[in-house]
Amino acid sequence: MKRDQAIFDLIAKEENRQKTGIELIASENFTSKQVMEAAGSVLTNKYAEGLPNKRYYGGCEVVDQIEQLAIDRAKELFGATWANVQPHSGAQANAAVFLAVLNAGDSILGFDLSHGGHLTHGSPVNFSGKLYKPHFYGVEEETGLIDYDKVEATALEVKPKLLICGASAYSRDWDYERLRDIADQVGAILLADISHPSGFIAKGLLNDPLEFCHIVTTTTHKTLRGPRGGLILMREDFDNPFGIKTPKGELRKMSALLDSGVFPGTQGGPLEHIIAAKAIAFEEALSDEYMEYILQVKKNATVMADAFVGLGYKIISGGTDNHLMLIDLGNKELTGKIAEETLGKVDITINKNMVPFDKRSPFVTSGMRVGTAAVTTRGLKESDMKRIVTLIDNALTNHENEEVLAKIKSEVNDWMVQFPLY
Ligand code: PLP
Repeated sequence: MKRDQAIFDLIAKEENRQKTGIELIASENFTSKQVMEAAGSVLTNKYAEGLPNKRYYGGCEVVDQIEQLAIDRAKELFGATWANVQPHSGAQANAAVFLAVLNAGDSILGFDLSHGGHLTHGSPVNFSGKLYKPHFYGVEEETGLIDYDKVEATALEVKPKLLICGASAYSRDWDYERLRDIADQVGAILLADISHPSGFIAKGLLNDPLEFCHIVTTTTHKTLRGPRGGLILMREDFDNPFGIKTPKGELRKMSALLDSGVFPGTQGGPLEHIIAAKAIAFEEALSDEYMEYILQVKKNATVMADAFVGLGYKIISGGTDNHLMLIDLGNKELTGKIAEETLGKVDITINKNMVPFDKRSPFVTSGMRVGTAAVTTRGLKESDMKRIVTLIDNALTNHENEEVLAKIKSEVNDWMVQFPLY
């Protein structure tokens, strides 16, 4: 068959974009070569519905071993006793959990999307808000922090069956112990979606959600630096508390409900090539080298946040405990849309983001979200963070001056080629 040059030329273009730009999207990272190698391997050819040694297809002897390694490594990395490595993405992991523990119409309580939460935690445009009855908690306008007394009051009022914590744009740690106490008061299952900070949690640098949360979900491609995908974990299995039965009328353990929430509940055949890539990423994350990396991600984020504050930028909650920060651009008379477009012109990639109590639409927004996971993989250190913030400030201040923007872009490109990628 003829090589599809159109697509490979575009892949080369994308590789060049990644090489020459500064990547600050908080949910992105650069995987290792071996992770990409596994993701592009012959494993993509294999059907393997079911679980290791319990498949609906023949020829699974090899992929069984791969998936089992991925499961064992995920358990070791997070101190879990149970893991399902099949979710195709973070959204799929959450969908499987919802299907396993809820009935349509049940109340759920999650972190407000416009305050930093995720679509899959009850947004009306997502399955989670369409099939279930969503309620939300948020941050305080003054502090940018979650007030757990208010979460408790809302939980007592709406009596959720599922209490969800975790976020896409919250730069502080979570009080999982307090949340478990709240969940227990109303008989809810507590789910932590640690998609963003999972790398920190794996290395013990943030509070451990597995100690208190019944179920934990994560993506594998953010701070964890694996292939795009999802993962579900439990420290301990438990009897399902709501008497949810299988279609055959059996009461089952939560692990069995979650497994069937993934397949056949919400997915078909698992992506064994991606599962192999996850297994490699988990092994990488178990290493001391990864510990050095994630410590540097944190140092870089702290320095970056301080540098923004030093230039008069308002960071929601005043700083960061993890890899990301949410910046309110209101006092700079800029919108998130202008910031994203301006920085795009100088090859610095960020995303516009709603800030808590935002009066602008999600297409415009008053904020931007930045993170240090990807630039740290690239090899950038604290002094580089200061330089990035100066470049960003310079670009935003001169967002109408194409000449200045062109100069900044060439500085960015010349600088980044000194940090080889792949
Ligand atoms: N959960 C959280 C907290 C996220 O931030 C994200 C992605 O940004 C997801 C779930 C969804 O992950 P995916 O894009 O892999 O479906």
